[in-house]
Amino acid sequence: MKHSLAVALLVFAMCGSAAVWKLTCEAAPALRTKEVPLLDIVHHRADAYQQFPESFPLQIAVFWTSPGSDPENPLPLVHSLKEMGIPFFITRDLPQALRHRLVILYPSVDWRTFTQPQADQLTTFVRQGGFVFAQNVFWGGLQNLFGFRSFAPSRKRYRLAFSATKDPVTKYLNHPEERQTQLGSDRFPEIIWSNGYVPDPGAEVLAHFDDGSAALLTNSVGKGKVYLLGLSLLDVVLRNQNNRDYEAQRHYVNAFEPGADVWLLVLRAWYEAYGKDWVRLATIPGGQRSALLLSHDVDWENSFAPGLDFARVEKANQASSTFFIQTKYVDDANSKAFFFAPNVDILQQLKGRGSTVGSHSIIHSRGFNKFELGTGHETYSSYQPRGLGFDTASGATVFGEVRVSKELLDGQIPGQDTTFFRAGHLRVPASLPEALERSGYQFDSSFTADDVLSNFPFALPRALGFEEDSEIYEFPVTIEDEESPGFAKRVPQALGVILANAENGAVSVVLIHSNESVVKAAAEQELLRQLPPDIVKTDMLTFAKFWRSRDRLQWSLTGTSVPTEVVLQVKSAESVAGLTFEFQRPIATVTGGATMSPDKRHLVLPEVAPGLSVSIHINYLR
Ligand SMILES: [Zn+2]
Repeated sequence: MKHSLAVALLVFAMCGSAAVWKLTCEAAPALRTKEVPLLDIVHHRADAYQQFPESFPLQIAVFWTSPGSDPENPLPLVHSLKEMGIPFFITRDLPQALRHRLVILYPSVDWRTFTQPQADQLTTFVRQGGFVFAQNVFWGGLQNLFGFRSFAPSRKRYRLAFSATKDPVTKYLNHPEERQTQLGSDRFPEIIWSNGYVPDPGAEVLAHFDDGSAALLTNSVGKGKVYLLGLSLLDVVLRNQNNRDYEAQRHYVNAFEPGADVWLLVLRAWYEAYGKDWVRLATIPGGQRSALLLSHDVDWENSFAPGLDFARVEKANQASSTFFIQTKYVDDANSKAFFFAPNVDILQQLKGRGSTVGSHSIIHSRGFNKFELGTGHETYSSYQPRGLGFDTASGATVFGEVRVSKELLDGQIPGQDTTFFRAGHLRVPASLPEALERSGYQFDSSFTADDVLSNFPFALPRALGFEEDSEIYEFPVTIEDEESPGFAKRVPQALGVILANAENGAVSVVLIHSNESVVKAAAEQELLRQLPPDIVKTDMLTFAKFWRSRDRLQWSLTGTSVPTEVVLQVKSAESVAGLTFEFQRPIATVTGGATMSPDKRHLVLPEVAPGLSVSIHINYLR
């Protein structure tokens, strides 16, 4: 109270009289801004072979079957393998691919893909102990190898169920939500394409569609084995991630929905079952099992002060969080302006006490997903958006909401560089990735994990399309506080979801609105107290920076003249701490300041400095 009185007196003194204050200060509140330069979009023009070159034997060879004039690009597979930390390269050279033990044929195989001699080479490769994972093989010339008699394309298969089998690729699928998935809502007369296979008697069906046809089958040939999927990762991974799916999700928020993750986990299990002395870049830092990413949305005039209570509870429980701030500086149909002192002072306190801050737009419109992109020249002095009704607005653009909120947060909070965005009402326009990356953002959290059917962060494709990634990484919301009967009554349910994600090495993002801190902060404390110690409790920005560095990490593992010794080489463009590698073989000793977990199968790297190549020598136990 004392503080706000002092501010009022100061304002009064500055403006001279109440009358003048009304005229000048109310029309243009004295908010500091920091310029947000408009950046160009950087296209990574290098082709897939240059971007993902062959560099060590352990890599999976991805044989890209569709490099023609209208190619289906490998982006869905790149997402899947990178998120799982599986090393790979992309090639069009079949003999080069077949020098590696594990080969993926992507995106499909038809009569034009291989010559008969090449098909024979592939068969010989498997017979001699090679492993192939393919999707949508249509060619009769490879029917025997892949173990099918016929197939039937359809857009009317809505569900998929994994069979009870001992096959190692289904190792990670233990929850009912993983054993059965939905490919699209039956509200649509047609959904994604699928190919239902009729298997050979010798092949084993690992998953089937709702019409009984085989969705995933495996066939042992000689010393090797092949796997065939009657779906495309474009449809069951990337289409979900960019929210272009046919409403395949079974829930919107607060539930465990791994519909896309199952395919990432199948690929991981395939790599771990057949890779020789495999090594994987783990998803979580510090050798931990999972991460709980905490966030608060501040989108009401009375939501600022309770934020301090949440920050206190988090600090007392060795956690921290990211506050997404609505920088509301205009009055409109939805609310009065509230982005001014003393609310802004609270942000400075939050930041000073270790919380991080992101943008939650300006007018928080339910119509944000329908906004025009704008020019990119919107600034605080000229941008005057107003919400008009339930989901309508005037003078508002995607660029305006993104850029001007950053101008204000960066200008008002010392040391702030806003790189995280969350849309009001979680409405996402297709132009959001462009507006964000051109305004200097790096991270977004505007989707729900259930809606995108994935609990791993991912690179957000430009225009939410299928062609290329933007510079933005997406961290979808897993748990929120508003759904009935309210977060405080749903803590056990939230823990269930968090633990299911932890089993997969996935993360969970929690969103709690800070409009009230008595009931909700106590509930958050309860959640934090019940969390197993191997789940990291962190703010979103800290984890997001880790994930970005991890996703862009260059690494290799090469042998030495000593049979039990290998060298792990890593290079990161950004400083990153806690990088963790998982090994199939137990480790005896390690150099370079890396620390070994008690199970001797996880290595945690010391902080890696930007641009430096670090070599770590590893001796296996036997
Ligand atoms: Zn909000």
